[in-house]
Amino acid sequence: MKYIADHDFHVHTTVSACCHDENQTPENLLKYALENGFHKVCITNHLWDEGVPSEAEWHPAHTVERLKSVLPLPTHEGARLLFGAETDIDYNGVLGISRKTLDEMDFVTVATTHLHLGGNTVREKPKTPEEAAELWLQKIRILLRMDLPFHKMGIAHLTCGHIMKGRSHEVIRLLQDEDLYEIFQACSKKGVGIELNVKTLDMTDEVRQVLMHPYHIAKDCGCKFYLGSDAHKGAALETVKAEFENVIDILDLQETDKFPLAKQG
Ligand SMILES: [Zn+2]
Ligand SMILES: [Zn+2]
Repeated sequence: MKYIADHDFHVHTTVSACCHDENQTPENLLKYALENGFHKVCITNHLWDEGVPSEAEWHPAHTVERLKSVLPLPTHEGARLLFGAETDIDYNGVLGISRKTLDEMDFVTVATTHLHLGGNTVREKPKTPEEAAELWLQKIRILLRMDLPFHKMGIAHLTCGHIMKGRSHEVIRLLQDEDLYEIFQACSKKGVGIELNVKTLDMTDEVRQVLMHPYHIAKDCGCKFYLGSDAHKGAALETVKAEFENVIDILDLQETDKFPLAKQG
């Protein structure tokens, strides 16, 4: 059975400092879920857990306390909002969420590709695609070495624009299949979800092919996928379903490829 686009596990509300759309509220996300036939939508605001010491300075608004300000989430019999977070790994390899907070959340996505945050996720922003490719691999390997409840965790936007502004495809192109197989075999074994949020509809064929390549390997390794729009504003929600369906078609995904937590029920 073909993979159904019936969820969105990566969306922000105004709790995230980078979300400037005042309409991006839990109530409107519930409406978005119902309009698109999504049975689950997970709110994943940015988090650096105040209970986790880090040498880096993180945005003061992105605390557990503030993330919890969305609770209790509105309910509806036709769709469920989940409470989650998008966290980071600092340049010392520290994950920005405590075990206690992880236990309190439905789902947590970890951004390993926020390579634009010099002084936080990386000491300095990578200057060349080669440096960025090295960091891309390093951060995922660090995450996979941790002892975590991976069944309710995902790896966010692996091929996003934050890897290197305007040059992410050059970075992804440098990744060797051997390294990608090693990483995705580990992801598959640990059961961590792989996020699909590539906006392929307006891409050139060449860029699309490069950016989708890692996901083909992930599929080959038996990884499980969830959909995540990473929408920060209402306007971005309008094209989400069409983008999701295009990626599903490109990868020829089946329901058996779905991350278990994203399944109905
Ligand atoms: Zn992100
Ligand atoms: Zn995000």
